[in-house]
Amino acid sequence: MNIHEYQAKEILSAFGIPVPRGRVAMTSDQVERAAKEMGGHCVVKAQIYAGGRGKAGGVKVVHHPEQAQDLGKDLFGKKIVTPQTGPEGLRVRRILVEEAVEIAKEFYLSITLDRGSSQYMLIASAEGGMDIEEVASKSPEKIITFAIDPFTGLRPYQARRVALALGLTGSVCEDCVNLILNLYRAFLEKDCSLIEINPLVVSRAGWLMAMDAKITFDDNAVYRHREYPDMVDYSQLDPLEIQASKYDLAYIKLGGSIGCLVNGAGLAMATLDVLKEFGGEPANFLDVGGGATREKVAEAFKIILQDADVKGIFVNIFGGIMRCDIIAQGIIEAAEEVHCTLPIVVRMDGSQVDEGKRLLKESGLNVECGDNLGDAAARIVKMLG
Ligand code: ADP
Ligand code: MG
Repeated sequence: MNIHEYQAKEILSAFGIPVPRGRVAMTSDQVERAAKEMGGHCVVKAQIYAGGRGKAGGVKVVHHPEQAQDLGKDLFGKKIVTPQTGPEGLRVRRILVEEAVEIAKEFYLSITLDRGSSQYMLIASAEGGMDIEEVASKSPEKIITFAIDPFTGLRPYQARRVALALGLTGSVCEDCVNLILNLYRAFLEKDCSLIEINPLVVSRAGWLMAMDAKITFDDNAVYRHREYPDMVDYSQLDPLEIQASKYDLAYIKLGGSIGCLVNGAGLAMATLDVLKEFGGEPANFLDVGGGATREKVAEAFKIILQDADVKGIFVNIFGGIMRCDIIAQGIIEAAEEVHCTLPIVVRMDGSQVDEGKRLLKESGLNVECGDNLGDAAARIVKMLG
């Protein structure tokens, strides 16, 4: 689960990490008033669920409240496209107005989970800022990583090692040690999978500050934090993903033309692989879960059909907990309800499979059943020709 920069900064601030003074605005009048409060000279920052805003015109310094207001008028409702948003971009609905800080140096600092080693990783660089991706690809030696043992946690001497590796000395170095320890505390207490500060800055006046912040919460831990669901900005999410999550379905949009309705994440991955093997391109990944019910299958069908890129539907269901004939009924009901005329190929196996296939054949839908996964994949690819 993602949150906005201003929300991430509120969390960092609550953990004792200094951030610039700021206010979030929903209208351009609020932007003007916030800019006045900051003394006129301030930074106007579009809040979207993506980074790379600076280079895309989403972060700008202004010198007067009226200038801030004009920029607000321009930004609200506009779509910002960055390398992280995909070509559609993300629409601006909230703007953070912040005091403009005179920056002396920019660093990169983050904590994330390395699933391979089952450890948290602290990642830092003395060359932080908007070109961090370029630094990472052209001079990876400038990025330093430290593994944190989850049993011993992060020790102060380790945090000091990072601060020294960033080239900091004196009181700023001590501030950085505290900041890193606080960051780790926030990471654990807030059940994050990522906290990234880029840039972490030392201001001209010599203060250390988080100038940008990105936090991703671990979805599996959202239930432990009552306030998290209210923090979601739905304007930043794909409407079909929101609809899917209401029915506890995992939906992920992909680039191709074949809608995939599958039960179980492992089977979904295998389905995408097999489709690709046969020259098909999946339009999405929709997992109805191991215990797929008729209602869930029907909802999943409706979601897939709302995606205009879908030209055909591939259903791959193993009837383990749920019987194949009931799944078949779900498919038929949903397809009839939404007047689906697209070609459908079903690969079903498990309990009551023959009855399920019979129901589908007699349904009058544009549906074929595959004998096995490979046969079914070949059929849908051929049908879309
Ligand atoms: P993004 O990472 O999406 O491009 P940032 O918040 O990192 O957005 O902003 C981009 C750049 O703008 C930063 O690297 C920093 O140099 C500058 N910047 C951001 N906020 C401020 C601020 N409050 N005062 C001064 N400069 C800022
Ligand atoms: Mg940034």
